[in-house]
Amino acid sequence: METIYTIPINEAFEEAIAEKENGVPICPFCTVAKKLEEDELDLILGASMMEPDIRVKTNEMGFCSPCFDKMLRRQKRLPLALMLESHLSELHGILSKKGVFGTSAEKGTKLLSELKNDCYVCHKVKTNLTRMLSNAVYMWERDGEFVKKVRAQRMICLEHLSGILTAAQGMNKKKFSALYEDFSTPAYSYLAELCGDVSHFCKKFDYRYEDEPWGNSKDSVERAIRFLTGEKLAK
Ligand SMILES: [Zn+2]
Ligand SMILES: [Zn+2]
Repeated sequence: METIYTIPINEAFEEAIAEKENGVPICPFCTVAKKLEEDELDLILGASMMEPDIRVKTNEMGFCSPCFDKMLRRQKRLPLALMLESHLSELHGILSKKGVFGTSAEKGTKLLSELKNDCYVCHKVKTNLTRMLSNAVYMWERDGEFVKKVRAQRMICLEHLSGILTAAQGMNKKKFSALYEDFSTPAYSYLAELCGDVSHFCKKFDYRYEDEPWGNSKDSVERAIRFLTGEKLAK
């Protein structure tokens, strides 16, 4: 495998190990996903925006609300407005009564429910992340150094644990058990840690525990959500 496909994964795993002692635990695949999303948002408001075949797709799929929000924050109003101009006009063509499908109440209802499920950026990130997860499986099978990095992680979120296990489907049973052990250990030990931290957080609202130190529990609610959903909270 070319290094171009392994570098972002290795970097994310190394970064998570470096943060292990002092920082908030991070899932290395969340870092990879975040980077993929950033790259895609930069592309869509830059080079990709004017490419006709990509414009066809963005006109058709549109974007979800969180991705629109992230695009707005990038302050590139003109590329965003140009994309919206052709997206809106395509929508108008499809949904208007005189449009290509001659929209009836039934057709309109179906078209609108389909529209809500699509986002060009999310779709691209999901496709690229699936490829990255397969790359990570490939690296785990062939690179002993990478195996060490996996074992040194403090946490892997549930969404990406599930993702890596799906990517490893088809592997022989013995090997799959070893992969499961390596990737699930940081996930499950962090889950145990979170159980304690969130319980302690709840206790702190009981007057009997008022004077006890917060320990590691102050940010446990945010950390638990991140662990469960794989998403970083908006800052
Ligand atoms: Zn994750
Ligand atoms: Zn999206």
